[in-house]
Amino acid sequence: MTTEAASYFSRELLGWYLANKRDLPWRMNRDPYRVWVSEIMLQQTRVDTVIPYYERFLEKFPTASALANAPEPEVLKCWEGLGYYSRARNLQAGAREVVARHGGAVPDDKEAVSALRGVGPYTTGAIMSIAFNRPEPAVDGNVMRVLSRYFCLEEDIAKPATRIGIEKLAASLIPEGSAGDFNQALMELGALVCTPKSPGCLTCPVMMHCEGRMAGKEHVLPIKTKAKPPRRETRIAALITGSGEHAGKLLVRQRPESGLLAQMWELPHVLAPDALGAAAPAKRRGRSKAGAALNAAAVAGELQLAAPEEASAIVSVSVSEASAAVRESAAGSELAAFAEPLLHAGTAGADGPPDAGGSSDRRASMADFLSRALSAEDGLLVRPEAWWGETDHVFSHIVWDMQVFRAEFGFWQTTGKVNTTSAAGEAAADEAAGTVIAAGTAGTSLFEAITEASAPYGDDRAPAHYRWIGPEEMRTLAFPNVFIRILQDYWRDLD
Ligand code: SF4
Repeated sequence: MTTEAASYFSRELLGWYLANKRDLPWRMNRDPYRVWVSEIMLQQTRVDTVIPYYERFLEKFPTASALANAPEPEVLKCWEGLGYYSRARNLQAGAREVVARHGGAVPDDKEAVSALRGVGPYTTGAIMSIAFNRPEPAVDGNVMRVLSRYFCLEEDIAKPATRIGIEKLAASLIPEGSAGDFNQALMELGALVCTPKSPGCLTCPVMMHCEGRMAGKEHVLPIKTKAKPPRRETRIAALITGSGEHAGKLLVRQRPESGLLAQMWELPHVLAPDALGAAAPAKRRGRSKAGAALNAAAVAGELQLAAPEEASAIVSVSVSEASAAVRESAAGSELAAFAEPLLHAGTAGADGPPDAGGSSDRRASMADFLSRALSAEDGLLVRPEAWWGETDHVFSHIVWDMQVFRAEFGFWQTTGKVNTTSAAGEAAADEAAGTVIAAGTAGTSLFEAITEASAPYGDDRAPAHYRWIGPEEMRTLAFPNVFIRILQDYWRDLD
């Protein structure tokens, strides 16, 4: 690289930016808190998507102190739909650090900024340069692409050593006194002109000395080794409808305090054993709708669920290859005990051999696994009624293939153990508490011996993280995108 090419790059790029920069809400002023919020929101997210979120967020939490003092559920609700929710939690934790250590003002100090929760080298550089005009590089994927192309760098940008080299290069290019504008100019060029798939070299302000373009490598650079594809796992979820005082409502639950999507709300769902997992289909964002109800004739013989008002409800499942696969997958796990009765349950009603491996057979097995796993994990007994649809949700490292079933609420196992009374007529029930007793020995059904007369459905003894909701609660509880899509689709279908 010649010094001339480098100074040409800095000069032309800065001039182009000052004349053409987009009017974005975070460019209204250089308030470091606003810069910080915008940079966190813009990680992995498009500008157009971020704008309304940014405006709402700043209106609700205009200062670091306001954010620090807000209840976390409110912050998550404001972030709902933007994804990568750990960003919101880290941002609030960082705001609390700013209040505790720096009197509520983001400090003009690189070390202090980089020590804030969720603030890495890129965000540190962005805050220091944009808010305080310090000559710090802010190198993200966009910037690495632009500089790899302009300087025809053929090192793998996935390697830390390459990133460090590019950070040094970017720092050396910053014109004196214009750090904030220059770093934003680099980002702007990567976003608008030197784009990943179709670099607009003919309109590029630095095309004259672009070595990548001159070498004909603008479509090849940057070099980046591919990350491992995300792991695909099938999750089986339940749209559990209520009755009586909960008529028209759905049962949802809150996720644990830590881990993936911590504290967000969701439909009850379980991880399917590998044998029930889907072959990797094309990516599905929208819902693929249900084709047949489980309890319809189409799947007669595979799964029979009694109506809730019956005194004795029977599940009978045919022994099929899919069910055998469930047994194989569940063997050795804590769910084995729940899978086993399925395999020995009577085959009454099976009209010949089922379509082993077929979708209806697989769905019947999924429905059964869902009811057993929810019972095992949360003491929640439900009756899957029909396959409702499917959708995907892509995280950075994992893809959820979400299979959704409509289900009726059964009851809670308050004792944590299933009563093994064998005869329905002999089943005892605690009328005051509405306790329902189910038979649970091998060869019988979890739903056998339900005594409706003494078992009004209710959630008075439900685990604290479960709640019945109607559409209006969607305004206050924060759900991950995949469940927002499912729930909105569900309520829309009801209208
Ligand atoms: S000339 Fe083309 S490859 Fe080079 S920086 Fe501009 S858009 Fe990118």
